[in-house]
Amino acid sequence: MSGVTHEYMEEYLRNLIPDKKGTLKKLEDFAKENSVPIIQKEAGKFLEFMINMKKPKRVLELGTAIGYSSILMAESVDYKLPIVTIERDDNMVTLAKSNIKLYGYDDRIDIIQGDCLEVLEKLDDKFDVIFMDAGKGHYNHFLPHCLRLLNDDGIIIADNVLFRGMVASNDLVKRRKITIVKRMRTYLEMVSSNEDLITSVIPMGDGIAITKRRMDHE
Ligand code: SAM
Repeated sequence: MSGVTHEYMEEYLRNLIPDKKGTLKKLEDFAKENSVPIIQKEAGKFLEFMINMKKPKRVLELGTAIGYSSILMAESVDYKLPIVTIERDDNMVTLAKSNIKLYGYDDRIDIIQGDCLEVLEKLDDKFDVIFMDAGKGHYNHFLPHCLRLLNDDGIIIADNVLFRGMVASNDLVKRRKITIVKRMRTYLEMVSSNEDLITSVIPMGDGIAITKRRMDHE
């Protein structure tokens, strides 16, 4: 039980999505065998959809792990999409670099090793899509930087925002996760109450929030 949606719904939606082949299938198998958290199937399909629809010129990702979602985004369009992805874990960086090179994406996916907040503080390039998938207890701290780095018509896609349902219901909150839950609630309140932004929270996977600037705001 994900705590976000009914199990029967999750299973039905997942079964609609064809299994990946080639590179992504190999990476999914590796992640499963080695307990590496990668984007859930239906959230991955949503990300693929958004990238294909948006056709961004540049993407920023927070949280590379083994490079699965970076490669998924790269494969979502028929042009060489430049992706900058941030990861702090040495082992993950080594695995991601090797996967990205092995599968021929090193001409477009650039890994920056470091803590997201520290790297974000130093970045000043603009991005059309920012995918937040690292440091669940810090999305609220990442947000001001992400807004600074986001092009006017860009979108922020934040994964795990409902965090197994804990963000929506105190009954589900595990004591040791209280800080993450509180900060994630702060993130959702920040993106929902800011009148310059439009945010939609989707109870899919572990919860996804998509945010963009309101273009018609006076
Ligand atoms: N986006 C990846 C995918 O779907 O293939 C999965 C990313 S995994 C959920 C989160 C990753 O973020 C982990 O590899 C973890 O080491 C990294 N991470 C967590 N907190 C971080 C932080 N503050 N700065 C940089 N990386 C962080």
